[in-house]
Amino acid sequence: MSPGAQLLPDGPVVERLATGATWSEGPLWIPDERAVRWSDIPGNRILRWDAATGVAGVHRTDVEFTNGRLLDPDGTVVQCSHGLRRLEREHPDGTTTELVADWNGHRLNSPNDVARAPDGSYWFTDPDYGIVQPNEGHPGEHEYGDCRVFRWSPVDGLTSVIDDIDRPNGIAFSPDGLTVYVTDTASGLGDGPGHWIRAYDVTGPRASNGRHFATIDAGLPDGIAVDVEGRVWSSAGDGIHVFDEEGTELLFVPVPEVVANVCFGGDDGTDLFIAATTSLYRLRTSTRSPG
Ligand code: MG
Repeated sequence: MSPGAQLLPDGPVVERLATGATWSEGPLWIPDERAVRWSDIPGNRILRWDAATGVAGVHRTDVEFTNGRLLDPDGTVVQCSHGLRRLEREHPDGTTTELVADWNGHRLNSPNDVARAPDGSYWFTDPDYGIVQPNEGHPGEHEYGDCRVFRWSPVDGLTSVIDDIDRPNGIAFSPDGLTVYVTDTASGLGDGPGHWIRAYDVTGPRASNGRHFATIDAGLPDGIAVDVEGRVWSSAGDGIHVFDEEGTELLFVPVPEVVANVCFGGDDGTDLFIAATTSLYRLRTSTRSPG
């Protein structure tokens, strides 16, 4: 039995909740709706699975290739837009407003995933998939030259916080907010060697002491989620890999499709929702989201 087996009350059983997407990403549990919202990026739409009925459908279409998202304390959704190369807010009526789209006069590449820091700022990754992959955005130029992790707040504006990852992708904070984890998916398109997760110390608006945390050998670690006890649940080509705070692997859960991203949710926060290629899956766990 693996050291993490106690994390799965029903065993390593993934339940397919919905299918029919092209490339699923950016899952988010919305408690007030008891629903999961996620992106079908090449389909240029946002999908929604309703926990009460078990039925999935289309939330919105023509969404400018949105990707990762989070729930703001005010109940709106903050999400990454490949197509508009920005971080944006989606309001309950479905309209969106820009939060930030440029850095020092240069357009962002294509924001991919976002996490909220304890100080209320948003940290997001900005790889270039939305400008180099025509089915995930609009072909465009790298205006500032590389790919970074940024921090944005209404008060402080936009600052670059991490610049030593070739293709930063997934991002999540530890429960105490003192560590931020960022994945590097550069090896996917041959843009670098990265297929691993890095960790950084967080001191207010700064990240420092970047270090290797864990490697995913089967495919890539795209999106990640951290549980209430600080474990890191990572996507991979073959399923879900779970690491303790030291980066030691505790658990592997196979998933039938390539996994792009995960989030905790459900009524008590213990369900792991898995965005995996064409489908949304659920894994019952005995841990829960930090929130
Ligand atoms: Mg991603």
